[in-house]
Amino acid sequence: MVDAHTTLVGVMGSPVRHSLSPLLHQAAFDALGLNWTSLAFEVPMGHAPAAVEGIRGLGLAGLSVTMPHKSDVAALMDELSPVAQRLGAVNCVVNRDGVLRGESTDGAGFLASLHRSEGFDAKGAHCLVLGAGGAARAVVLALAEAGAAEVTVVNRTQGKGADAAALAGPAGRSVAADDASGIGDALDSAALVVNATPVGMVGQDADDSPQHLLNLRSDQLAADLIYVPRRTPWLEAAAAAGARTVGGLGMLVHQAAEQIQLWTGQPAPVEAMWSAAEAVQW
Ligand code: NAP
Repeated sequence: MVDAHTTLVGVMGSPVRHSLSPLLHQAAFDALGLNWTSLAFEVPMGHAPAAVEGIRGLGLAGLSVTMPHKSDVAALMDELSPVAQRLGAVNCVVNRDGVLRGESTDGAGFLASLHRSEGFDAKGAHCLVLGAGGAARAVVLALAEAGAAEVTVVNRTQGKGADAAALAGPAGRSVAADDASGIGDALDSAALVVNATPVGMVGQDADDSPQHLLNLRSDQLAADLIYVPRRTPWLEAAAAAGARTVGGLGMLVHQAAEQIQLWTGQPAPVEAMWSAAEAVQW
């Protein structure tokens, strides 16, 4: 029940009406027995400063941040976590007595998802990441910080690929999307292959798919960050080749779980959040 004591969080983005964040947050608050609630705020591009002032002015406990505001919000924080600082992006604002701290939970959510579904540990692993946008950057940094031996980034725009690979320090490599032999070499040694492009997402044209170069083996793990559809054509092909597969819903649930912990200081009820996500009709 919402009353005059309810603590408010939410998600800001544009577009935002498709967001599952309020549902995931509410499942967590209900399971924890907290008088908290979560709303979605449609905030047009360029309006992040006003929205962040709203967090301060109204005393919200925090906000999730999604496209297109992650970089703008990073520049508006009083302090940043080390990961948010490295990425120059924030997906979660935490309001501690008026001090706004920017966090980035996508990378931790990705690793937690792989660990939960496949027991995957990045330590010492060779990994290949397709894409170099915001999600790919979070994944590359998280894999490197978890001890991956090599993180190869394959991207259409090579400058962006090199920037993303640099986040992995000495473990990072960048390969051009049209370098079939470079991709083949990286694929040979990869234990984990990640699609961090929108190719395969509902409504996206898959004609120029970068994944056509990737025929996986049964000893490899394929992770797609896309969660609509739950299983992309690429994941289906990987599974048909015998590879283990993980869809993007786990990352969505676990990055939200990290945010719940940051806001409430309590361990997130991950299973309740999973149940809420799985109950959604896609
Ligand atoms: P983004 O910042 O727009 O980056 C997109 C990346 O994909 C860029 O590197 C882009 O290459 C590449 N790309 C786009 N279309 C391509 C095509 N047709 N062929 C080859 N490469 C292409 O997007 P993002 O925020 O990183 O999101 C990427 C995906 O991750 C989306 O599907 C998003 O829904 C998903 N995601 C999932 C979660 C989750 O919790 N599961 C969280 C965040 C994002 P260029 O650099 O050459 O343009």
